[in-house]
Amino acid sequence: MIQRSAARCRGTSTVAENRRPAKFRIAATVATQLDPAGSSEDALWAELNRLMPSFLARWRAIRAGAPLPAAVDGPSLLELCRELAYRMLAHCNFCPWNCRVDRMAGAKFGACKHLVTKNVEPQADVA
Ligand code: SF4
Repeated sequence: MIQRSAARCRGTSTVAENRRPAKFRIAATVATQLDPAGSSEDALWAELNRLMPSFLARWRAIRAGAPLPAAVDGPSLLELCRELAYRMLAHCNFCPWNCRVDRMAGAKFGACKHLVTKNVEPQADVA
């Protein structure tokens, strides 16, 4: 158990030590044809499922030593995931409690009692 935890820590330290890019940076290199903000949640999930094989192939290649490609000029898997996260917050099912409360509106708490605060801004420099 401790060995497995230590191995996991070693795995994450390659990102922390800037020897491998974080997954969100890899996601920023995978283009989507969808307009995330203008698409239905069903369309976003379908696009996520369509793009995941590309993301995983790129992630494996980078783990094997390939360089990180440049971030795409336009919507990417990263924006798609951010939009999906916001959509999920409107009927929260992030964990097994599956409360279905609207954490963006903040009118009702779920089991975790967490709301979304407006002072969380998306990162601008993901390249
Ligand atoms: S406990 Fe919190 S994170 Fe989990 S589903 Fe409920 S509101 Fe969402």
